[in-house]
Amino acid sequence: MNFSGKTAIVTGGSRGIGRAVCLELARGGANVVLCYAGNEEAARATAAECEALGASVLTVKCDVSDSAQVKTLVDTAVTAYGRVDILVNNAGITRDGLLMTMKEEDFDDVTATNLKGTFLCMKAVARQMMRQRYGRIVNLSSVVGVRGNAGQVNYAASKAGVIGMTKSLAKELASRGVTVNAIAPGFIETDMTAAMTDAAKTATLASIPMGRLGQAEDVARAIAFLAAEESGYITGQVLCVDGGMAM
Ligand code: NAP
Repeated sequence: MNFSGKTAIVTGGSRGIGRAVCLELARGGANVVLCYAGNEEAARATAAECEALGASVLTVKCDVSDSAQVKTLVDTAVTAYGRVDILVNNAGITRDGLLMTMKEEDFDDVTATNLKGTFLCMKAVARQMMRQRYGRIVNLSSVVGVRGNAGQVNYAASKAGVIGMTKSLAKELASRGVTVNAIAPGFIETDMTAAMTDAAKTATLASIPMGRLGQAEDVARAIAFLAAEESGYITGQVLCVDGGMAM
Protein backbone atom coordinates (compact mmCIF):
# COMPACT_ATOMS: atom_id res chain seq x y z
CA MET A 1 0.00 0.00 0.00
CA ASN A 2 1.16 3.49 -0.83
CA PHE A 3 1.42 5.95 2.06
CA SER A 4 4.01 8.28 0.57
CA GLY A 5 3.51 11.87 1.65
CA LYS A 6 1.29 10.75 4.51
CA THR A 7 2.04 11.27 8.21
CA ALA A 8 0.86 8.67 10.72
CA ILE A 9 0.72 8.76 14.52
CA VAL A 10 0.78 5.25 16.00
CA THR A 11 0.20 5.04 19.76
CA GLY A 12 1.84 2.08 21.46
CA GLY A 13 4.09 1.76 18.42
CA SER A 14 7.05 0.30 20.27
CA ARG A 15 5.90 -3.31 20.58
CA GLY A 16 3.42 -5.94 19.39
CA ILE A 17 0.66 -4.87 17.02
CA GLY A 18 1.75 -1.22 17.11
CA ARG A 19 5.26 -2.15 16.03
CA ALA A 20 3.88 -4.16 13.10
CA VAL A 21 1.68 -1.19 12.13
CA CYS A 22 4.68 1.18 12.17
CA LEU A 23 6.59 -1.20 9.90
CA GLU A 24 3.63 -1.65 7.51
CA LEU A 25 3.12 2.12 7.18
CA ALA A 26 6.87 2.76 6.87
CA ARG A 27 7.07 0.15 4.10
CA GLY A 28 4.38 2.15 2.26
CA GLY A 29 6.40 5.37 2.59
CA ALA A 30 4.63 7.12 5.50
CA ASN A 31 6.31 9.44 7.97
CA VAL A 32 5.82 7.66 11.29
CA VAL A 33 5.33 9.32 14.67
CA LEU A 34 5.80 6.50 17.13
CA CYS A 35 4.31 7.02 20.60
CA TYR A 36 5.32 4.80 23.48
CA ALA A 37 4.70 4.74 27.25
CA GLY A 38 8.11 3.96 28.73
CA ASN A 39 9.96 1.19 26.90
CA GLU A 40 12.49 3.41 25.17
CA GLU A 41 14.66 0.50 24.04
CA ALA A 42 11.76 -1.12 22.17
CA ALA A 43 10.71 2.23 20.70
CA ARG A 44 14.21 2.92 19.41
CA ALA A 45 14.51 -0.57 17.95
CA THR A 46 11.20 -0.25 16.07
CA ALA A 47 12.12 3.24 14.87
CA ALA A 48 15.42 1.90 13.53
CA GLU A 49 13.59 -0.86 11.66
CA CYS A 50 11.26 1.74 10.10
CA GLU A 51 14.19 3.93 9.12
CA ALA A 52 15.86 0.95 7.49
CA LEU A 53 12.77 0.79 5.27
CA GLY A 54 13.42 4.41 4.23
CA ALA A 55 10.84 6.10 6.48
CA SER A 56 11.24 9.28 8.49
CA VAL A 57 10.44 8.46 12.14
CA LEU A 58 9.94 10.46 15.32
CA THR A 59 9.66 8.69 18.65
CA VAL A 60 7.64 10.46 21.34
CA LYS A 61 7.26 9.27 24.93
CA CYS A 62 3.63 9.99 25.72
CA ASP A 63 1.07 8.61 28.15
CA VAL A 64 -2.13 8.66 26.10
CA SER A 65 -4.25 9.10 29.22
CA ASP A 66 -2.67 12.53 29.83
CA SER A 67 -4.21 15.29 27.71
CA ALA A 68 -1.17 17.60 27.93
CA GLN A 69 1.16 14.83 26.72
CA VAL A 70 -1.24 13.94 23.91
CA LYS A 71 -1.34 17.58 22.79
CA THR A 72 2.47 17.62 22.70
CA LEU A 73 2.45 14.39 20.66
CA VAL A 74 0.14 15.85 18.01
CA ASP A 75 1.92 19.24 18.02
CA THR A 76 5.24 17.42 17.47
CA ALA A 77 3.83 15.62 14.43
CA VAL A 78 2.33 18.79 12.92
CA THR A 79 5.48 20.84 13.54
CA ALA A 80 7.69 18.20 11.92
CA TYR A 81 5.53 17.18 8.97
CA GLY A 82 2.85 19.88 8.62
CA ARG A 83 -0.08 17.47 8.85
CA VAL A 84 -1.51 14.30 10.40
CA ASP A 85 -3.18 11.98 7.92
CA ILE A 86 -3.45 8.79 9.96
CA LEU A 87 -4.03 8.13 13.66
CA VAL A 88 -3.84 4.55 14.92
CA ASN A 89 -5.09 4.36 18.51
CA ASN A 90 -3.31 1.17 19.47
CA ALA A 91 -1.94 1.81 22.99
CA GLY A 92 -3.63 -0.54 25.38
CA ILE A 93 -3.25 -2.44 28.66
CA THR A 94 -4.95 -5.23 30.59
CA ARG A 95 -5.46 -5.71 34.36
CA ASP A 96 -7.44 -8.95 34.39
CA GLY A 97 -9.41 -10.41 37.27
CA LEU A 98 -12.90 -11.52 38.19
CA LEU A 99 -15.28 -8.71 39.13
CA MET A 100 -15.50 -9.82 42.75
CA THR A 101 -11.77 -9.31 43.24
CA MET A 102 -11.05 -6.59 40.68
CA LYS A 103 -9.69 -3.45 42.30
CA GLU A 104 -11.21 -0.08 41.47
CA GLU A 105 -7.79 1.10 40.29
CA ASP A 106 -7.63 -1.81 37.82
CA PHE A 107 -10.84 -0.54 36.26
CA ASP A 108 -9.62 3.07 36.27
CA ASP A 109 -6.17 2.27 34.81
CA VAL A 110 -7.56 0.19 31.94
CA THR A 111 -10.30 2.62 30.99
CA ALA A 112 -7.89 5.58 31.33
CA THR A 113 -5.46 4.13 28.79
CA ASN A 114 -7.75 2.23 26.44
CA LEU A 115 -10.87 4.41 26.40
CA LYS A 116 -9.91 7.89 27.58
CA GLY A 117 -6.58 7.64 25.73
CA THR A 118 -8.40 6.94 22.48
CA PHE A 119 -10.78 9.85 23.16
CA LEU A 120 -7.92 12.27 23.88
CA CYS A 121 -5.96 11.30 20.77
CA MET A 122 -9.01 11.57 18.51
CA LYS A 123 -9.85 14.96 20.00
CA ALA A 124 -6.28 16.18 19.55
CA VAL A 125 -6.15 15.33 15.81
CA ALA A 126 -9.76 16.07 14.84
CA ARG A 127 -9.36 19.81 14.16
CA GLN A 128 -6.19 19.24 12.10
CA MET A 129 -7.86 16.50 10.03
CA MET A 130 -11.00 18.61 9.50
CA ARG A 131 -8.84 21.51 8.32
CA GLN A 132 -7.05 19.15 5.91
CA ARG A 133 -10.41 17.69 4.82
CA TYR A 134 -8.61 14.37 5.08
CA GLY A 135 -7.97 11.83 7.77
CA ARG A 136 -7.98 8.16 8.66
CA ILE A 137 -8.52 7.15 12.29
CA VAL A 138 -8.24 3.47 13.20
CA ASN A 139 -9.04 2.46 16.78
CA LEU A 140 -8.07 -0.84 18.41
CA SER A 141 -11.05 -2.55 19.95
CA SER A 142 -11.08 -6.30 20.64
CA VAL A 143 -13.17 -9.41 20.22
CA VAL A 144 -13.64 -8.99 23.99
CA GLY A 145 -15.40 -5.66 23.39
CA VAL A 146 -17.77 -7.43 20.99
CA ARG A 147 -18.46 -10.64 22.96
CA GLY A 148 -17.29 -9.99 26.55
CA ASN A 149 -14.93 -12.27 28.47
CA ALA A 150 -14.90 -13.58 32.02
CA GLY A 151 -12.12 -11.90 33.97
CA GLN A 152 -12.03 -8.82 31.75
CA VAL A 153 -14.94 -6.60 32.81
CA ASN A 154 -12.67 -3.54 32.77
CA TYR A 155 -11.03 -4.38 29.43
CA ALA A 156 -14.37 -5.32 27.81
CA ALA A 157 -15.90 -2.03 28.96
CA SER A 158 -13.01 -0.08 27.46
CA LYS A 159 -13.08 -1.94 24.16
CA ALA A 160 -16.89 -1.82 23.79
CA GLY A 161 -16.60 1.89 24.55
CA VAL A 162 -14.07 2.27 21.76
CA ILE A 163 -16.63 0.86 19.32
CA GLY A 164 -19.27 3.35 20.50
CA MET A 165 -16.84 6.27 20.18
CA THR A 166 -15.72 5.08 16.74
CA LYS A 167 -19.25 5.01 15.35
CA SER A 168 -20.16 8.35 16.94
CA LEU A 169 -17.10 10.21 15.66
CA ALA A 170 -17.50 8.56 12.23
CA LYS A 171 -20.89 10.27 11.99
CA GLU A 172 -19.46 13.60 13.17
CA LEU A 173 -16.58 13.66 10.68
CA ALA A 174 -17.97 11.81 7.64
CA SER A 175 -18.71 14.99 5.69
CA ARG A 176 -15.14 16.27 6.27
CA GLY A 177 -13.29 13.50 4.48
CA VAL A 178 -12.26 11.85 7.73
CA THR A 179 -13.03 8.17 8.29
CA VAL A 180 -13.12 6.51 11.72
CA ASN A 181 -13.06 2.73 11.97
CA ALA A 182 -12.25 0.07 14.53
CA ILE A 183 -10.35 -3.19 14.38
CA ALA A 184 -11.35 -6.00 16.74
CA PRO A 185 -8.46 -8.46 16.97
CA GLY A 186 -8.96 -11.91 18.41
CA PHE A 187 -6.08 -13.65 20.17
CA ILE A 188 -2.80 -12.20 18.85
CA GLU A 189 0.61 -13.42 20.01
CA THR A 190 2.24 -10.38 21.66
CA ASP A 191 3.60 -9.44 25.09
CA MET A 192 -0.01 -8.74 26.14
CA THR A 193 -1.05 -12.37 25.70
CA ALA A 194 2.31 -13.99 26.56
CA ALA A 195 1.39 -14.30 30.25
CA MET A 196 -1.59 -16.57 29.56
CA THR A 197 -1.23 -20.13 30.82
CA ASP A 198 -0.85 -22.95 28.30
CA ALA A 199 -4.26 -24.28 29.39
CA ALA A 200 -5.89 -20.91 28.66
CA LYS A 201 -4.14 -20.73 25.29
CA THR A 202 -5.32 -24.23 24.39
CA ALA A 203 -8.90 -23.32 25.34
CA THR A 204 -8.71 -20.12 23.28
CA LEU A 205 -7.30 -22.00 20.32
CA ALA A 206 -10.30 -24.33 20.39
CA SER A 207 -12.59 -21.31 19.87
CA ILE A 208 -10.77 -20.10 16.75
CA PRO A 209 -12.25 -21.63 13.57
CA MET A 210 -8.96 -21.08 11.70
CA GLY A 211 -7.16 -23.13 14.34
CA ARG A 212 -4.23 -20.79 14.87
CA LEU A 213 -3.38 -17.79 17.00
CA GLY A 214 -3.08 -14.47 15.18
CA GLN A 215 0.16 -12.63 14.48
CA ALA A 216 0.71 -8.89 14.84
CA GLU A 217 1.18 -8.67 11.07
CA ASP A 218 -2.33 -10.12 10.49
CA VAL A 219 -3.76 -7.14 12.36
CA ALA A 220 -1.33 -4.57 10.92
CA ARG A 221 -2.34 -5.38 7.35
CA ALA A 222 -6.02 -4.82 8.17
CA ILE A 223 -5.18 -1.52 9.89
CA ALA A 224 -3.18 -0.41 6.86
CA PHE A 225 -6.16 -1.27 4.64
CA LEU A 226 -8.46 1.03 6.67
CA ALA A 227 -5.74 3.71 6.83
CA ALA A 228 -5.30 3.78 3.05
CA GLU A 229 -6.55 6.65 0.91
CA GLU A 230 -8.44 4.10 -1.21
CA SER A 231 -10.61 3.10 1.79
CA GLY A 232 -12.26 6.53 1.89
CA TYR A 233 -15.82 5.21 1.54
CA ILE A 234 -15.57 2.96 4.62
CA THR A 235 -16.41 4.55 7.96
CA GLY A 236 -17.91 3.59 11.33
CA GLN A 237 -17.09 -0.08 10.79
CA VAL A 238 -15.69 -2.73 13.11
CA LEU A 239 -13.44 -5.18 11.31
CA CYS A 240 -12.82 -8.40 13.23
CA VAL A 241 -9.35 -9.85 12.63
CA ASP A 242 -9.71 -13.01 14.65
CA GLY A 243 -9.59 -16.15 12.55
CA GLY A 244 -13.38 -16.34 12.80
CA MET A 245 -13.61 -16.19 16.61
CA ALA A 246 -16.42 -13.62 16.86
CA MET A 247 -18.72 -15.26 14.30
P1 NAP B 1 1.49 -4.92 23.87
O1 NAP B 1 2.37 -5.84 23.12
O2 NAP B 1 1.30 -5.12 25.34
O3 NAP B 1 1.99 -3.42 23.59
C1 NAP B 1 1.32 -2.35 24.20
C2 NAP B 1 1.81 -1.06 23.62
O4 NAP B 1 1.03 0.01 24.20
C3 NAP B 1 3.26 -0.75 23.95
O5 NAP B 1 3.83 -0.10 22.84
C4 NAP B 1 3.18 0.19 25.14
O6 NAP B 1 4.30 1.07 25.23
C5 NAP B 1 1.92 0.97 24.77
N1 NAP B 1 1.24 1.60 25.91
C6 NAP B 1 0.71 1.02 27.01
N2 NAP B 1 0.17 1.95 27.80
C7 NAP B 1 0.35 3.14 27.20
C8 NAP B 1 0.02 4.47 27.54
N3 NAP B 1 -0.63 4.79 28.66
N4 NAP B 1 0.38 5.46 26.68
C9 NAP B 1 1.04 5.18 25.53
N5 NAP B 1 1.37 3.93 25.15
C10 NAP B 1 1.03 2.93 25.99
O7 NAP B 1 0.00 -4.90 23.26
P2 NAP B 1 -0.59 -5.56 21.91
O8 NAP B 1 -0.95 -6.96 22.18
O9 NAP B 1 0.29 -5.22 20.76
O10 NAP B 1 -1.97 -4.75 21.79
C11 NAP B 1 -2.10 -3.57 21.02
C12 NAP B 1 -3.56 -3.14 21.02
O11 NAP B 1 -4.36 -4.20 20.47
C13 NAP B 1 -4.13 -2.88 22.42
O12 NAP B 1 -5.05 -1.81 22.36
C14 NAP B 1 -4.86 -4.16 22.75
O13 NAP B 1 -5.88 -3.97 23.69
C15 NAP B 1 -5.39 -4.55 21.37
N6 NAP B 1 -5.68 -5.98 21.27
C16 NAP B 1 -4.71 -6.92 21.44
C17 NAP B 1 -5.03 -8.26 21.34
C18 NAP B 1 -4.02 -9.35 21.52
O14 NAP B 1 -4.41 -10.54 21.51
N7 NAP B 1 -2.74 -9.07 21.66
C19 NAP B 1 -6.35 -8.64 21.06
C20 NAP B 1 -7.31 -7.66 20.91
C21 NAP B 1 -6.97 -6.32 21.00
P3 NAP B 1 5.68 0.61 25.97
O15 NAP B 1 6.37 -0.36 25.01
O16 NAP B 1 6.45 1.87 26.12
O17 NAP B 1 5.29 -0.05 27.24
